[in-house]
Amino acid sequence: MTYKTTTPEQTEQLGSALAKALHAGDILAYTGDLGAGKTAMTRGIAHGIGYTESVTSPTFTLVHEYLGGSLPLFHFDLYRLDHEDQLFDIGFDDYLARKGVCIIEWSEKAPQTLSTEQVIWIDIAVTDVQRTITITPPPERDLDLSQ
Ligand code: ADP
Ligand code: MG
Repeated sequence: MTYKTTTPEQTEQLGSALAKALHAGDILAYTGDLGAGKTAMTRGIAHGIGYTESVTSPTFTLVHEYLGGSLPLFHFDLYRLDHEDQLFDIGFDDYLARKGVCIIEWSEKAPQTLSTEQVIWIDIAVTDVQRTITITPPPERDLDLSQ
């Protein structure tokens, strides 16, 4: 499914719509450059599940936890990950086991880990102010984003 947005608010709205279709245990993995709108979309997802506080990139801490919505949300930013093995140091497996939703910015840094998981891929491509957002669920996963 491909969507086009021209403002950060539209990207957040798409995130909120996606949030309604998520289940415990889902893994969302972004691809796309710095400034593409990964954090903007994650903000929309967090607000869509009912989390009301601020959502920023966990660039230095690698992960933020958003609790208090209908599902726990774990927001990863792997930009500063040097080696994929470091995922285990930050307890990635434990987060996966916590029956929440894991959202991963810079998933390009964890190809091996993600290759063995069922992932909802979200690619954001930039052309000027337009974002082309392509959401690819695993085979046989029906994602209904009608609001
Ligand atoms: P990322 O997490 O991918 O690095 P951010 O969400 O932090 O990106 O930042 C996206 C930037 O792009 C923000 O400054 C935002 O205002 C701007 N922007 C412009 N158009 C859009 C759009 N259509 N969707 C999302 N962000 C947009
Ligand atoms: Mg970001």
